[in-house]
Amino acid sequence: AAKAAGKNRFLRFHPDMMTALVQRTEMEAGLQLAVTRGEISVAFQPIVSPRIGQTVQFEALARWDHNGERIPPSVFIPMAERSGLISEIGNEVMGLSLVQLAPWLREDPSRSLAVNVSGVQLQEPAFADGVLRLAAACGVGAYQLVLEVTESVFFDPGCGLIRQLSSLREAGVRVALDDFGTGYSSLGRLQDLPVDIVKIDRTFVSMVRTGQERLPILSSMINMAHSLGLTVTAEGVETAVQADYLTALDCDSLQGYLFSLPESGHRLERAGRQAEDALAALAARRPRTG
Ligand code: C2E
Ligand code: MG
Ligand code: MG
Ligand code: MG
Repeated sequence: AAKAAGKNRFLRFHPDMMTALVQRTEMEAGLQLAVTRGEISVAFQPIVSPRIGQTVQFEALARWDHNGERIPPSVFIPMAERSGLISEIGNEVMGLSLVQLAPWLREDPSRSLAVNVSGVQLQEPAFADGVLRLAAACGVGAYQLVLEVTESVFFDPGCGLIRQLSSLREAGVRVALDDFGTGYSSLGRLQDLPVDIVKIDRTFVSMVRTGQERLPILSSMINMAHSLGLTVTAEGVETAVQADYLTALDCDSLQGYLFSLPESGHRLERAGRQAEDALAALAARRPRTG
């Protein structure tokens, strides 16, 4: 009987599957209208530099509020990529981010904004021009902008994508390799990629538990990136032990719940200061060397 039931699971169209399908279709239809309905917003998460002791960057993270529910980007970004909506949503995120962060960025030219972009956006012939024009219109320098991409965009990059990235980088925009270490490429491939910053995925950061264990992967990633002249950010820093360990490995900047959650635009300054306070508390606790 158990065997028959097991088989049936694959033969019958279960009501739950119907519900899931209806929900999915409803959600995809909703995503079509998300931008015009003003349902897309941006949350900003501070990124701190232990060396400088300040919040030096914010990462912009897309948010979608739909029917009173917040749909996570892990759900709606892949959906937008499949349905061709990612460019419209990506443009909205870029616009909202630049406008909301412009006052903070204009106060200090060494501050920067990181925005996630999908490979689809980078294929578009007008992408680079649009981004550069938008930044200029907001009084933000191109060098203050970081585009975060995942390794997958370099799998089979068309010449269009390479051209877009080149013109952006020539203008001063930096490119960050997001979720580094989770993809297929080896450490050795780093030197072939047109990137300026490496963001170590939080799965590696979460391996740091006691601060005493040896984690050759983590130190190799940081050393290799540095020897190639790249800047290193660690994501998903949740504990003081992790922050101390990464700081000792000379990681350039840190991001994670230990410093601040992603916050909406009107709480940006507060989030940035809170992250700096957390950083100062770490430095105060740390035994002095030398
Ligand atoms: P990501 O770019 O790697 O962003 C970091 C994710 O980790 C964010 O999740 C952030 O909220 C979360 N995070 C930050 N600190 C911590 C921490 O200490 N612990 C843990 N467990 N998580 C932390 P979020 O906002 O849900 O975004 C998920 C992913 O969705 C992003 O990963 C990015 O790949 C994608 N995404 C978000 N916004 C956009 C966008 O505007 N465009 C594109 N193409 N992708 C986006
Ligand atoms: Mg990112
Ligand atoms: Mg990331
Ligand atoms: Mg990630």
